[in-house]
Amino acid sequence: MILIDGKQTAEIIKAELAVEVENIVKNGGKQPHLAAILVGNDGASETYIASKVKACKKVGFKSTLINFPATVSENELLQKVIEINNNADIDGLIVQLPLPKHISEKKVTETILPEKDVDGFHPLNVGKLALNLPTFISATPYGIMQLLERYKIETAGKHCVILGRSNIVGSPVSILLSRNTYPGNCTVTLCHSRTKNLEYYTKQADILIAALGKPDFVKANMVKDGVVVIDVGITRVSAPGTEKGYHITGDVDFDDVAPKCSYITPVPGGVGPMTIVALLKNTLLSLNNNLITNL
Ligand code: NAP
Repeated sequence: MILIDGKQTAEIIKAELAVEVENIVKNGGKQPHLAAILVGNDGASETYIASKVKACKKVGFKSTLINFPATVSENELLQKVIEINNNADIDGLIVQLPLPKHISEKKVTETILPEKDVDGFHPLNVGKLALNLPTFISATPYGIMQLLERYKIETAGKHCVILGRSNIVGSPVSILLSRNTYPGNCTVTLCHSRTKNLEYYTKQADILIAALGKPDFVKANMVKDGVVVIDVGITRVSAPGTEKGYHITGDVDFDDVAPKCSYITPVPGGVGPMTIVALLKNTLLSLNNNLITNL
């Protein structure tokens, strides 16, 4: 079994990005600039945003973090998005989700200029992804593709079974792995909560991508020997008596499943760190006006 070390891979990519940024700036180019908007005080969102800002610093990006209280009006938030859209110094903008209930995430996402939508959530960018046109690939799917590529995992002709059909993970990953590229050329089965006899599909998987948000859901008896497992799940499971009071748990019961795998990602330290790196890569692509068709 080979452990897919997302943390180490992310550090390698960050070092590559840092060199790229240094060269751009040395040659008189513009320093990449990522802006992030955080609304409210949700603990997990604050942690994600802090990691993104820290990663920017590490690779030599400029970053701007805008904090709004949870009571901010939708209009005020939209005005800020428009202001950033019009700021030529900012290459990428992310608005950390989820947003408070009184704000329409759809409206906010659609207001971000598609050319600065480095999260790849704007409908125009999602549509372009489906049509294999140059666009931003949303961060988590892009991170997963990078892991498959960096570990040289064979995908052509493989049966990839995906658990979860969300707009930010399962659905775009199913599109990317169906493409006639590398990583890709898989035969893809996309499962969801209405899938009957889930094990029938998971047992066929050469590559299993779990993105359903149910801690330790995938067990050894659900997979075949030699499977490649990518665990996207991140759930805080209460752990009284520990320093934080919780553990971060994936969708795969790692200790049970790992002995049957050819490759497996851990949680934490698998897909998570790659998501941040993908965001940085997208921001650099935005600066260079060089969007992705093939990975
Ligand atoms: P989501 O929007 O909640 O979607 C969950 C999906 O799983 C839905 O399609 C749902 O089916 C399906 N599902 C739920 N129970 C199921 C079951 N018993 N069998 C089969 N399918 C089932 O989740 P998400 O936003 O994609 O996130 C999934 C997990 O990934 C979460 O733990 C999240 O925290 C994590 N995540 C991690 C990263 C990262 O950077 N590592 C990034 C994003 C998300 P229906 O459509 O039928 O409801």
